[in-house]
Amino acid sequence: MKNGKSISLEFFPPREAAGRARLAEVARTLVARKPAYVSVTYGAGGSTRDGTAEVVRLMQSLGCETAPHLSCIGSSREELTGILDEYRGQGIRRIVALRGDLPSGMGRYPGEVHYADELVRLIREHSGDWFHIEVAAYPEVHPQAASAAKDLEHFVGKVKAGADAAITQYFFNPDAYFDFVDRAQAKGVNIPIVPGIMPITNYTQLARFSNTCGADIPRWLEGRLADFGEDKVSLRAFGADFVAGMSQRLLDQGAPGLHFYTLNNAEATLAVWDRLNIA
Ligand code: FAD
Repeated sequence: MKNGKSISLEFFPPREAAGRARLAEVARTLVARKPAYVSVTYGAGGSTRDGTAEVVRLMQSLGCETAPHLSCIGSSREELTGILDEYRGQGIRRIVALRGDLPSGMGRYPGEVHYADELVRLIREHSGDWFHIEVAAYPEVHPQAASAAKDLEHFVGKVKAGADAAITQYFFNPDAYFDFVDRAQAKGVNIPIVPGIMPITNYTQLARFSNTCGADIPRWLEGRLADFGEDKVSLRAFGADFVAGMSQRLLDQGAPGLHFYTLNNAEATLAVWDRLNIA
């Protein structure tokens, strides 16, 4: 953006052929808006390895800088470095480095790299400064963290290991973001911490996701969303107004950009993006 703020977009690899065809269309629409980069999620334990690689190629073919996510849990060092070499060979320069959560049914092999800070260290050891490394941040605290202080300590550990920037879990409390940034900066962190933005399109799905990943839906907001019931048009309009208002406040008060969890849906992201005053 002209004001130095960056917009990036996240996609996931669809399981079905129909989803893949739809994604090609969605990606074309969104990439035309010139995001700073797009990222593509990766199922922990390598469960979407081929799908992620396919979507990465699609995004690259559209001429957009592409950042594959890479999660380490359940993988050996050799598998991880093999993937890094493939990406390097494809000209990928940016990676989102994560621990991940093993999907149920994948067994209990924890792999050789147990936390994201170890993965960041592995990437730096193996690939030097080739990759710009993004890591995850949790303004409302990662659900498995022993405490908020420990979680912050672990975040700082990822930055010290060599992360260049961070993307947050989504949240609906901007104060949680500003507090997290303040506390991280007080510990010497000076990398950009970009808010992850979740458009609101479906209350039931949002409540389920939020419960799993530890994102708080404030009580008043939950009540408003529940009241829309089956009136999806009104829910989406309200959701876009709310998320855009929050995003504008984040940008106006110092956030370096926004990272949209698009859920492979162009309209929901554009409904928020088009409401922002960022030209
Ligand atoms: P870590 O930073 O390793 O932290 C995980 C937990 O362990 C935290 O509670 C932390 O406090 C604790 N911890 C960290 N280091 C240590 C240590 N050394 N000793 C003890 N405890 C420690 N998941 C996917 O499967 N695929 C994706 O593509 C994906 N993309 C994501 C993108 C973003 C922007 C975000 C925010 C999340 C994403 N996730 C993805 C979800 C993520 O994998 C989960 O939240 C996972 O549980 C934690 O990953 P992490 O990289 O934050 O882990």
